[in-house]
Formats: sequence, C-alpha cells, structure tokens
Amino acid sequence: MVQNIHKVRSEVIKCVECPRLVSFRTKIAQEKRKSYMDWDYWGKPVPGYGDPNSNLLILGLAPAAHGGNRTGRVFTGDKSADFLFKCLHAAGMANQADSTSRDDGLTLAGFMSVAVKCVPPGDKPTAQERNNCAKHLASEIECLPNLKIVLGLGKIGFESFLHFSRKSFDIKMKDYPFKHGVGYNLPNGIALYGAYHPSPRNVNTKTITFDMMVKFLKKLKNEI
Ligand code: SF4
Repeated sequence: MVQNIHKVRSEVIKCVECPRLVSFRTKIAQEKRKSYMDWDYWGKPVPGYGDPNSNLLILGLAPAAHGGNRTGRVFTGDKSADFLFKCLHAAGMANQADSTSRDDGLTLAGFMSVAVKCVPPGDKPTAQERNNCAKHLASEIECLPNLKIVLGLGKIGFESFLHFSRKSFDIKMKDYPFKHGVGYNLPNGIALYGAYHPSPRNVNTKTITFDMMVKFLKKLKNEI
C-alpha cells in the first residue's frame, strides 16, 4: 500500500488540470512573502502525507498560499498548522507541537490530506476545481486499507468525503449536516466526524478554541 501512495503522490504533483489554480500557485511561489524570500517555494499541488496504514484520515480544504504551497506539506508552516498541531500534540496524536517543514521530524497518528491540492485564491475553490480534484482524493483514499474514521476539518473537507462516499452509496448530503463535533456512521462503515477548520479567522473569533479542539480530538483518539 505504501508503494501505491507514492505512485498517487507522483501523479498529484504533476497535475495541471485547473488553469486558474496552476497560475495562482505559480504566481505565489514566484512572488513569495517578504519573510520567506530565502525559501524555494514548492508551488505545485500538495499531496497527502502520514501513515497510509492508519485507520484515521484528517481532511482539510486546500494548502495555504505561504503554508503548504511554500513547504510542500499540508498544514505545514502557517497559522492554521500552528494551532492544529498544538492541539494534535496535546491530544497525543502527533509527536510534536510544530509543523514547519517537510523534514521537521513530524509523525502523525493518521493520514492527512486536503480536498483541493492546489492553493485557491481567497481559499475559495470553484465547484469545478473541487470536482476536478476529487479523483486525486479518491486515489489517496483507495491507498488507505484500514480506514475507519475520517475527520473533516471545515465544511469543504467534511463534504469532500461525503462526495467520495456517494460514488458507492446512495446517500444524501442533507442527511449529514456539518457542524463542530458531529459524528455519523456512513453506510460504507466509515465514521465521519466534523470539526471547525483551525483557520486564523475561526481561532481569532474563538469559534474554535484550544480547549474545544483538544477535547474533541481526545474523544476521537479513543476510537483510533
Ligand atoms: S486542484 Fe487538483 S485537479 Fe486542480 S490542478 Fe491542482 S491537483 Fe490538479
């Protein structure tokens, strides 16, 4: 299975299917942020990473412009990652509280990916872009033989797994509304959970707090 995930990763990295996102990810990588001028930005689609033999998949929206699009790993090197990994570490699901680069020694109790592999302007992919990228997410999911639990971080991450499940089972999206802390047993035997996305906006407005997220993750950890 590990071999397969490497193959999927190579395919994802080569993808140029969405012209708007190819142009945006390249522009960000060339212009860079002032504080990261010495970085050689990744500037390509960002595939999932972690342990493909785990029973847990954590699914977010898309790489951040100066996070995953710079470092080449999802939830790495941006404010969402700072918050999320502080929580995952506190819940005993990551070996360290920082996620800063692809070689930072991080290990995760699970596999982590995003619904859309290229950074979208304003963090808003179009429906067509989400649809285009669904096949890459499906290929990744097919490389997770022990998958039993999915955590969707934010509505788009959460719904991307419902869309995937709809290909095999007749389920209606309206029967699985997203909110923080929800959990559903899907007909494919997967338990799908939802949590607010750890974005700076959600953290700054206290829509999601450290205590809320850690409490939820600890509950989840008892099931993996
Ligand atoms: S968003 Fe997905 S489908 Fe679109 S170019 Fe990036 S990897 Fe390809």
